[in-house]
Amino acid sequence: MGRLTETEKAQLLEEMWDTKKVILVCGRHKIAPGPDHDSPKPFSGCRDCWQVYWTRTVARIPPGERREWLEKIWATLRVMTEMVEKGTWDYQPFAHPKVLEKDDGNGDVSDD
Ligand SMILES: [Zn+2]
Repeated sequence: MGRLTETEKAQLLEEMWDTKKVILVCGRHKIAPGPDHDSPKPFSGCRDCWQVYWTRTVARIPPGERREWLEKIWATLRVMTEMVEKGTWDYQPFAHPKVLEKDDGNGDVSDD
């Protein structure tokens, strides 16, 4: 990330004090990994980095598109699992992952 302009600095400071806004960061690495090309990438094997990454990713998906995206995420997880099993990726998966999914009957998926 390059230097911030004065306008960008003011905008960031304003956002920091917005009580309706939540900023997720990895407590260990002090970064906010996300899907944007200019977002920092999660540290391999860091549970908190990946939690922030996926939370930010899912939060951006419009409710009506969540089913399609969830299927894409499942496909990605299958590929990741295969890579770990083949030893071609150094990511350390959780020994007992817990994935929650709730379908509200309208084709939307949420975790509440
Ligand atoms: Zn981390």
